[in-house]
Amino acid sequence: MKLAVDLHIHSCLSPCGDNDMTPNNIAGMAALKGLDVIAVADHNSAGNVRSTIQAARQYDLLVLPALEANTREEIHVLCYFPAVEIAEEFGAWLHGLLPPVKNKPELFGDQLFMTDQDEVCGEEELLLINAADCSIEELFREVRARGGAAVPAHANKQANSILENLGFLPPALGITTVETRGEQRLDLLQGLQCLRSSDAHCLPDILEREFFIEVSEKSTAAILDKITQK
Ligand SMILES: [Zn+2]
Ligand SMILES: [Zn+2]
Repeated sequence: MKLAVDLHIHSCLSPCGDNDMTPNNIAGMAALKGLDVIAVADHNSAGNVRSTIQAARQYDLLVLPALEANTREEIHVLCYFPAVEIAEEFGAWLHGLLPPVKNKPELFGDQLFMTDQDEVCGEEELLLINAADCSIEELFREVRARGGAAVPAHANKQANSILENLGFLPPALGITTVETRGEQRLDLLQGLQCLRSSDAHCLPDILEREFFIEVSEKSTAAILDKITQK
C-alpha cells in the first residue's frame, strides 16, 4: 500500500519549534492534510512522542517514534524506533551525552513537554540543539542495537548534514536511506532510498499528501523494514 508520510516534524520541545506545535495541533494538521504517517523528531529528545501518539488516536494517523540526533560531528540523524518506550530510553541515553549547557528560552526558544491534552507538563533545561558527545558510528550502532533505523537528515543540505560535514557517506555505516532537501548534490546519493519530509517547525509547513512510501501494511514495523531495506 502507498502511504502519504511526513517523517520529520518538530514539536514545541525543540527550541526552534513554534510553541503551537503541540501534540494535538500537529496530529490535527497532519490529519487535515490527509497524511497517513508522521514522525515527531525533536532535537535530541523523544519527550513529546508519547503524547503525540495519544493525540493522534482520534485520527487514522500513525506516529512513528523518533528523534533527530545531533552527533559530535554536528551531523543531524533521524532515528526511528519500533516502540515509544525504546525511543524514550534512547532519548534518555542521548540526553546524558549532551553538554551541560542550559537553554536560554529568550534566546533560543522554549523547550516544552506537553501532555496529550496540550498542557505544558515541564520544560527541558539543557539546550537540545547542541551536539551529543557521540560519533555518527556510535549513534548508528546504538540505534540499530535497539531495532531502530538511522537516516541522515537533510543529507544534501549545506548545514548539519553528512555530505557537508564529512564530505561522503562512509561505507562502514551501511546507509540504506537518506532524507534529502532540495536538488543539490543528489548525484552523491545515487542508489540510496531518499525520503522527503518537511522538517516543519510551524504548522503550515507540514507536508500535504505529496511524498509517498510503498509498504506492505500501515505499521511502524513495516515502515522501519522499508527504511532499512537494502
Ligand atoms: Zn536538522
Ligand atoms: Zn529537523
